[in-house]
Amino acid sequence: MRHIAIIGSGPAGYYTAEAAQKHWGDDVRVDIFDALPVPYGLIRTGVAPDHQSIKAVSRRYEKTALTDNVRFVGNVTIGESVSIGDLQSLYDAVVLATGAPNDRQLGMPGEDLGNVFGSASFVGWYNGHPKFAALEPDLSGRHAVVIGMGNVALDVARILAKTENEFAGSDIVGHALDALRGSNINSITILGRRGPHQVMMTPKELGELMHLERASPRVDPADLPEEAEDAILEPGLRKSVTHLRSFAAIPESVHADTPIEIEFDMYASPVELLGDGKVHKIRIERTKVESGRAVGTGEFYEIPADLVVSCIGYRTSPIPGVPFDERAGRFANDEGRILPGLYCVGWARRGPSGTIGTNRPDGYGLIDKIVEDIDSGAIGGGRKKGREGFDALVEERALEVVTFRDWKKIEEAEEAAAREGAPREKFVDIAAMIAARS
Ligand code: NAP
Repeated sequence: MRHIAIIGSGPAGYYTAEAAQKHWGDDVRVDIFDALPVPYGLIRTGVAPDHQSIKAVSRRYEKTALTDNVRFVGNVTIGESVSIGDLQSLYDAVVLATGAPNDRQLGMPGEDLGNVFGSASFVGWYNGHPKFAALEPDLSGRHAVVIGMGNVALDVARILAKTENEFAGSDIVGHALDALRGSNINSITILGRRGPHQVMMTPKELGELMHLERASPRVDPADLPEEAEDAILEPGLRKSVTHLRSFAAIPESVHADTPIEIEFDMYASPVELLGDGKVHKIRIERTKVESGRAVGTGEFYEIPADLVVSCIGYRTSPIPGVPFDERAGRFANDEGRILPGLYCVGWARRGPSGTIGTNRPDGYGLIDKIVEDIDSGAIGGGRKKGREGFDALVEERALEVVTFRDWKKIEEAEEAAAREGAPREKFVDIAAMIAARS
């Protein structure tokens, strides 16, 4: 029998569990740990609430979760009540699938001003992550600035622009819907430090901006390179640039008819946030792109900013004793191997890139590595106690573990509390989640 501990119940964690099960069948026991009492990580608290079709992948994870040899162990923070060393003594392999839950810092003056948020906290707020539920962003101003030209920036801009009607069928949490209902924001600037050929936004997500009820996207035609230059781009990026070209062609009459404008300000690198306790303006340096890099031109300007959300990427949380690559913001690893018997997968391994689906080959690839290490004798010597040993630890330390069965009760309560047409109303408080299982 092989015993595997996976820390993190998001996509990377569940695909790894699925791969373990495919490989060993009934000869494996997998325990999936999560600090929250609820599973699915980024699917629940990262994927935008109006992207329910992406969130539906959790049904596949549930299939894995419901098999006898895979177990969800919620409400246990590894590194606090249980150490990595504890798990290493109990399981043949310990896999860190902890994602990248912390914001990369802008590293500029004014970053600590009020109403400036990183995307982890802002997205966590509208998605009901308990850590960020009390964020209370002030949406009373007119100007929002979203920094970054990736899909998270698009999510944030779209959520700020949607009407209540457009959230029908989504699982946006009640406190965010209430705040958005009272929002005064009518200008959303997306700041990109490079140009159209360097956007990280994908075509489907960009295309959604064309179908918003009360908002229209604006691109300055002067920012677009000659159309012939698009030919060298890989097809996905070419499609994204085609969307930007169509945004640039939107007639003024359409902008005049939509109360909210989503403006792309490209070749624009933020250098300072200005305000008096709360942010009011952002100082920007005009850039040009040289050899793929944004280079400042020495030309500066300011734009109003009552709310700033920086969507410039994420970092993994370090765990004491686990080698960490500070520069990359993830665990130091060689194709998922950190130390003998200790592995990482997903964003904790490769950094915050790719789609949910990218984690599938990542998880399957990692199980291949673990099998290699077992076959070569690098790990797996001596019989490990696995979940039986962990259960003894739970007794000894009086841990309050939330099981998958408990989660199904929490889920039922969330579904019962849903507004009309919504799939669920999430609990945003850990104590309320735990209380709902009984
Ligand atoms: P991302 O795709 O890496 O984009 C980050 C953006 O931030 C880039 O435009 C980057 O510009 C910019 N940036 C970084 N540092 C900056 C700085 N100091 N000043 C100004 N701009 C800066 O990251 P993400 O948007 O956080 O997304 C993370 C991953 O999740 C991506 O793989 C994304 O596709 C995925 N995701 C997918 C979906 C979906 O499929 N619907 C939704 C959300 C997220 P440079 O390129 O110039 O560095």
